[in-house]
Amino acid sequence: VAPPAVVSDLRSAVGDAHVLVDEDARAGYETDWSGRYTGRAVAVVRPGTTHEVAEVLRICRTAGVDVVPQGGNTGLVGGGVPRPEGSTERPAIVLSTRRLGGVSAADPDAMQLTAGAGVTIAEWQAAARAVGLDAPLDFAARDSATVGGAIATNAGGSRVLRFGTMRSQVAGIEAVLADGRVVGSLAGLPKETAGLHWPSVLTGSEGTLAVVTAARLRLVPRFEHVVTALVATASIGEAVDLTGRLRRQLGSLDSVEIIDPAALALVGGHLGRAAPVTPPPGGAALLVECAGHVDPTSDLVAALGDIAGDSAVAVDPLQRAHLIAFRDRITEAMNQASAGGVPPFKLDVAVPLGALEELAAVARRAAADDGCRLIAFGHLAEGNLHLNHLGARDPATIAATVLSAVADLGGTISAEHGIGIAKTPWLHLVRSSADLGAQAAVRAALDPAGILNPGVLAPRPPAIGRAATPTAPQVP
Ligand SMILES: Cc1cc2nc3c(=O)[nH]c(=O)nc-3n(C[C@H](O)[C@H](O)[C@H](O)COP(=O)(O)OP(=O)(O)OC[C@H]3O[C@@H](n4cnc5c(N)ncnc54)[C@H](O)[C@@H]3O)c2cc1C
Repeated sequence: VAPPAVVSDLRSAVGDAHVLVDEDARAGYETDWSGRYTGRAVAVVRPGTTHEVAEVLRICRTAGVDVVPQGGNTGLVGGGVPRPEGSTERPAIVLSTRRLGGVSAADPDAMQLTAGAGVTIAEWQAAARAVGLDAPLDFAARDSATVGGAIATNAGGSRVLRFGTMRSQVAGIEAVLADGRVVGSLAGLPKETAGLHWPSVLTGSEGTLAVVTAARLRLVPRFEHVVTALVATASIGEAVDLTGRLRRQLGSLDSVEIIDPAALALVGGHLGRAAPVTPPPGGAALLVECAGHVDPTSDLVAALGDIAGDSAVAVDPLQRAHLIAFRDRITEAMNQASAGGVPPFKLDVAVPLGALEELAAVARRAAADDGCRLIAFGHLAEGNLHLNHLGARDPATIAATVLSAVADLGGTISAEHGIGIAKTPWLHLVRSSADLGAQAAVRAALDPAGILNPGVLAPRPPAIGRAATPTAPQVP
């Protein structure tokens, strides 16, 4: 039940129509995209301006109500929906940023534009393309995922190899602290050394330090010529070697995505057509894309060398789309395969490239021990695998095994999806207690009442030692 005084104050701040308290109206904001994470909010509040965001935060801070920021609700680690019932003491609202829209005219000389936090990645791309430029970020959730969510999670996607993660795309930021003060600047100065850099502080903070309301975003050239290749390699080691060669030889290289044979077979079944290449067990298919102002096709074919024999290369947009579907539609294929059952258990990990083959072997063993089906794919150039377990019986054991191995291999337990509530039990594997203590101190300084996204990025005390399995893991 919503505290009546709070709801009435929130209505005064943003207007009656933008405070949703009915169960039906709240439902779409209370459960995440995968259906794995769910909780209850006393209200969903949809401010339309930075001033309204500040008012909402002041009201919640005074009333002792938690605030869960939410953009497109495509996050995969449970950070953008209310915490599970019984796990928090205070009531919470969802602060939806979807009304914080608006894209400024692009500045083609500075190669920047300003976007509200609720602008989607696809809208950012469209605004850039309208002036002959492009957005440097792309991933399959582009039509719903927002600029604010991408900043909060330091999103990656397929073009990181060429342009970097979201962290590299934010030239300026505007955000509201838990007490309603507004910080940052949207000037977009590429060089500024005048104290803390708010885009760096807030990118990856997962809604725990401030609510992002707008950002000054980088744009990149729009290339006229794009070529896509699907290539089979005999092993992951060979895939890593090939990626190194392509990076060294091709200035036009945009992305190198990896798809394991099981994922390729699953998505092929879903699409109703077999992939044009057939990697052997233990091998991989790579989706390679090059883009340039000059047609990069012959350079790509030359760089593929002998491997060009087991590849399909396309420049026609429709044929390219046919190849890209084998990567872009894996998630959809998995959801269909597990429809009506438990959603796939996902791990998003990265290791140094030289350790990727070993990580893949560990993941295969963990899945075999559990008896579940492993579907692996990801962003090869960053050593980033998405390990999806269909029908996992014991996700906690899989996570403990794989994430401990990842840490031992010098990797990270989250490459691009964030920690959310899903991975907090394992944060100590990759962050020392000094590190976690310093982060907690920053958080407490900016939000002393602790109303912003409690439970996210907040591990239990790291006293259980490096390889220990958490006693009561919040298994996603
Ligand atoms: C099919 C599919 C494919 C995906 N592929 C990729 C991929 O390739 N690469 C990748 O990185 N991710 C990927 N994702 C994950 C997801 O799309 C990203 O994490 C995205 O950045 C989330 O944006 P969102 O607007 O949906 O955020 P939400 O899900 O709404 O929120 C995510 C987190 O950000 C916080 N947050 C949201 N908005 C704000 C704000 N304005 N201020 C402060 N905090 C905020 C939330 O509290 C939450 O902790 C994929 C998801 C799906 C469903």
